Amino acid sequence: CSGGGLLVYSDSSPSKRTLTADGQEIKKKKVVVLGSGWSGYSFLSHFNNPNYDVQVVSPRNFFLFTPLLPSVTNGTVEARSIVEPIRGLMRKKGFEYTEAECVKIDPSNKKIHCKSKDSTSLKGTTEFDMDYDILVIAVGAKPNTFNTPGVEEHAHFLKEADDALKIRRSVINCFERASLPDLTEEERKKILHFVVVGGGPTGVEFSAELHDFLVEDVAKIYPKVQEFTRITLLEAGDHILNMFDKRITAFAEEKFQRDGIDLKTKNMVVGVTADEISTKERGSGEVVSEPYGMVVWSTGIGSRPVIKDFMHQIGQGQRRVLATDEWLRVDGCDSVYALGDTATINQRRVMEDIAAIFGKADKGETGTLNKKEFKGVVKDICQRYPQVELYLKKKKLRNIANLLKSANGDNTELSIETFKQALSEVDTQMKNLPATAQVASQQGKYLAKCFNKMEKCEKKPEGPLRFRGEGRHRFQPFRYRHFGSFAPLGGEQTAAELPGDWVSIGHSSQWLWYSVYASKLVSWRTRSLVVSDWVRRFIFGRDSSS
Ligand code: FAD
Ligand code: MG
Ligand code: MG
Ligand code: MG
Ligand code: MG
Repeated sequence: CSGGGLLVYSDSSPSKRTLTADGQEIKKKKVVVLGSGWSGYSFLSHFNNPNYDVQVVSPRNFFLFTPLLPSVTNGTVEARSIVEPIRGLMRKKGFEYTEAECVKIDPSNKKIHCKSKDSTSLKGTTEFDMDYDILVIAVGAKPNTFNTPGVEEHAHFLKEADDALKIRRSVINCFERASLPDLTEEERKKILHFVVVGGGPTGVEFSAELHDFLVEDVAKIYPKVQEFTRITLLEAGDHILNMFDKRITAFAEEKFQRDGIDLKTKNMVVGVTADEISTKERGSGEVVSEPYGMVVWSTGIGSRPVIKDFMHQIGQGQRRVLATDEWLRVDGCDSVYALGDTATINQRRVMEDIAAIFGKADKGETGTLNKKEFKGVVKDICQRYPQVELYLKKKKLRNIANLLKSANGDNTELSIETFKQALSEVDTQMKNLPATAQVASQQGKYLAKCFNKMEKCEKKPEGPLRFRGEGRHRFQPFRYRHFGSFAPLGGEQTAAELPGDWVSIGHSSQWLWYSVYASKLVSWRTRSLVVSDWVRRFIFGRDSSS
């Protein structure tokens, strides 16, 4: 290697070392990544900077394609088909992987404490510490029970591959038990009462998958007990799928009614025992208990204990979710990044920064902005504060210049008062990004790209605003691009909400769904497995062995 450049080589020790031309060793910075889900896997696959050592810690040595998890519960798709081992990526990229769970983050000593469970024997757990220079937290979230008694013990969750397989076995089990001789009608009805809690996309999709299974397969396999089956979907709010367009909600509710799915909105679950589930109706306050055969709990997510503990340490104990800035750096903690479902971006309000924005733009310090100064600041405001764009869209204005023009007429000089007045309502458009794979994977890619150009950028750290001509290599804040969402409703029908208020419901969107998800699968191996599962299901029906 010539001219004082860097030379990288691998020796027998696990980590790579970097030598300068005169043979001196440079210690590489160590990036520890927690998690191998949507955000972690996306970060790792886009990370490309040889000046870092990357070490991954996750209790799961595979990536899981969660959007197809509901299809695993009834055997439409096999669990193996939506799982991608991460060892392959590790080898390709030269990263290290340790199968363990991080149980404590110690930011003051830049250490994590990990536990590794031996799941195949009774040899117990191994514990160890690991140092980091930079920590990337991508551990996702855990199902939220809202401390409802009995849920942990008696309900199924739908979050991991194992959960889906357990649900599948449990459904089949219910049918086998209900088919035993000498049961009363009441007993059969109880065993075949399937309750889904939570009318969000996962709960709705699972109900739809279960219903498909009952009408398409069970009718043939268990004809004697089919008449006793019932699906109840419980939702605490007024409507299911309330994050979707109203047309989609209405269509879904009507379809479920037609399908005979017992949809109970405004019903909150207050407790689950081994045989009964109790709900309280909002309004009347009446509590009703019903016998069930199986409960699936899907009411949203909460922080993992390790994250709760970390938040207490760094002064975020009052918050519900770990907060980062728009560069995904954890607030109040150096060298730690968080992305995906674990964290939420604490967006800045334009109004809080307005004096600073104005001051910086006012280069001539005249107390007003002229046309040139104003143009300089416009692009940056849109970059830095995503709510501005949403506001403009809502007002059907093409850009911020038009907004200000409406406040200021054709005056060339703009006072801070007019500036404030024009932007006074933009902050009402602020909203948190949803906890979706789409957000998580975009954040992983964004952060990896920041690391890939870290050397260039470190020389020019970002400020609140980027001005023309300075900081070409500066990091832009993370910006989310929404490509649309799907809600599969069963019977080969899907509702799709695409950018630009475009809503499509029915069989054609089902085909769009098939093709989008097939294309989003992370490898050709999983893609071919999933497609052949679909084909097999079309031809032979679902596998009903437990
Ligand atoms: P995850 O993908 O959950 O990954 C977390 C990772 O961290 C895992 O590898 C886990 O093993 C690991 N981990 C956990 N604890 C620790 C620890 N203590 N130490 C180290 N590692 C740890 N989103 C969509 O956009 N579209 C969909 O259609 C869709 N469908 C979904 C269907 C279902 C059934 C579910 C459950 C979710 C669905 N989502 C969907 C949401 C999407 O899966 C999540 O938003 C996404 O997984 C979040 O990514 P993440 O990286 O934050 O967490
Ligand atoms: Mg992850
Ligand atoms: Mg995942
Ligand atoms: Mg998840
Ligand atoms: Mg998030």
